[in-house]
Amino acid sequence: MGQHQLSDHTTLRLGGPAPLWLSHTHDADWRDLARAAGAHAELPFTLGGGSNTLAPDQGTTRPVIHMATRGIRTRHLVDGQVAVTVAAGHPLTDLVAHTVAEGLSGIEYLGGIPGTAGAAPVQNAGAYGQEIGDTLTAVIAHDWTTGRTARVPVAECRLDYRTSVFKQELGRWTILSLTLHLTRSTVAAPVTYQHLATALWAPLGSRPPLAEAAAAVLHDRAERGLLLPETGHDARQAGSCFLNPIVTDDQAVALRSQGAPVYRTPAHRWRASAGWLLEACGYRPGAEVTRGVRCSTRRTLTLTAQAEATAHDFRTALEAMAANVRTVAGVDLHPEPVFV
Ligand SMILES: Cc1cc2nc3c(=O)[nH]c(=O)nc-3n(C[C@H](O)[C@H](O)[C@H](O)COP(=O)(O)OP(=O)(O)OC[C@H]3O[C@@H](n4cnc5c(N)ncnc54)[C@H](O)[C@@H]3O)c2cc1C
Repeated sequence: MGQHQLSDHTTLRLGGPAPLWLSHTHDADWRDLARAAGAHAELPFTLGGGSNTLAPDQGTTRPVIHMATRGIRTRHLVDGQVAVTVAAGHPLTDLVAHTVAEGLSGIEYLGGIPGTAGAAPVQNAGAYGQEIGDTLTAVIAHDWTTGRTARVPVAECRLDYRTSVFKQELGRWTILSLTLHLTRSTVAAPVTYQHLATALWAPLGSRPPLAEAAAAVLHDRAERGLLLPETGHDARQAGSCFLNPIVTDDQAVALRSQGAPVYRTPAHRWRASAGWLLEACGYRPGAEVTRGVRCSTRRTLTLTAQAEATAHDFRTALEAMAANVRTVAGVDLHPEPVFV
């Protein structure tokens, strides 16, 4: 335990001290760590790579459990299926690279998403038409309300667009590991995104070679400012700052008539593009929103913190953007990053 600053552990590089810092590095130590964290009056905050977290300037008095476990285990099943179990602290990008190198299809389009494997089920991380929930079969998680560590059946994970029970009941769970069922395959899942189809010179619906598809994802993400740069104007960010919002039938018709992308969800509702709505309000790549908080130079939907920014400024920027969209389009935007 020591004095850790949340700004050193979040990609926005914002956030004050976390005096109760517990680093989880070995599975075998979980019981002791859980006892230490559970003895505290406040629920712990579980932190992975900090790439979807906005931490407050004043820090937090909650115990912060930093997930730093590593490891991937595979078990062969029938019909070319392979069960891949990964420790929660393992970097997601490394898991994707590993499974692609092993000739396993199922998460090849999730390359380039920063953060840990354990955080992926929290918002059902997804990209290019693929979500972690598509292949997730089991989650081992600690429930802080009961003090028990148990297997959470996928049906109880309530996985949906950028959400799950772990996000809806934030703070209740710490995911320790997850298991995916991947498929041995030389080809990737069908391409459903035009950007990717273009990058691959392949038609929509085609199934490119697995490694080529994974490489094309990284290439396309780099082209569109969807990778986390180490330095520069866009280095301090948490990816998309708002979820694509659900809109009413009337709003969908109105937005469509203005050329906005609107798509049908599996639950037969309409979802609009948060990025398009922000641009309709006049926000543009590189634009300053509040003091020290700017849209990324590559895309309006990503907000970046500059040298002088505080977490308070960042939150103010989110509120200002959401208020503008509400006024102009009558649509409520919800932030994607989690507030500690
Ligand atoms: C450049 C960039 C691109 C991105 N692109 C995408 C994208 O394409 N698709 C996408 O879905 N997301 C994307 N993101 C958002 C983010 O990377 C993902 O949500 C990622 O899964 C977060 O992982 P993390 O370990 O950094 O989570 P953190 O920021 O550490 O945590 C996020 C939330 O998950 C909780 N959490 C973390 N670990 C655990 C655990 N083990 N158990 C329980 N709760 C936990 C935290 O308490 C917090 O509520 C992007 C972010 C950036 C910066």
